[in-house]
Amino acid sequence: MKKRCVVIKDPKLRRIRNNLREILIKAYQNTDIKLTSEIDAISRDSEGRLRMNRTPSENAELQKLKDMRSQINELTDKSICYCRACKQINKDMAYNPTLEEWYCVECYEEFRDYYYQQKIEKQKAKFLGDYYEPFFETFT
Ligand SMILES: [Zn+2]
Repeated sequence: MKKRCVVIKDPKLRRIRNNLREILIKAYQNTDIKLTSEIDAISRDSEGRLRMNRTPSENAELQKLKDMRSQINELTDKSICYCRACKQINKDMAYNPTLEEWYCVECYEEFRDYYYQQKIEKQKAKFLGDYYEPFFETFT
């Protein structure tokens, strides 16, 4: 599969892009904080201990909130707003179609080069430590 790159050269446009990413990440963080405090309000008592005597409707509400939070986390993990590896938000990005994740162009190329480097090492039958080939192969 072919990787897809989103590269912006114009410094003004880069700044706008970075600001938009920042706004989106802030919105995500605020939503996450809000959901977490709503979850805590149902699942914990005033001293922060877990409440065991929840009603069925409280449990249903709790499940709904937890599902929303994990959906948002999943979306954030697949977001173009930041690199999956180095977490920077001001980079040009490359999409890994196998992993369905965005990496900055630098990390992407680093992983790809590492894969080819390890391939050569492998042919020389060297010990590769905890190198996980299927992961790095997706960057080729
Ligand atoms: Zn990166």
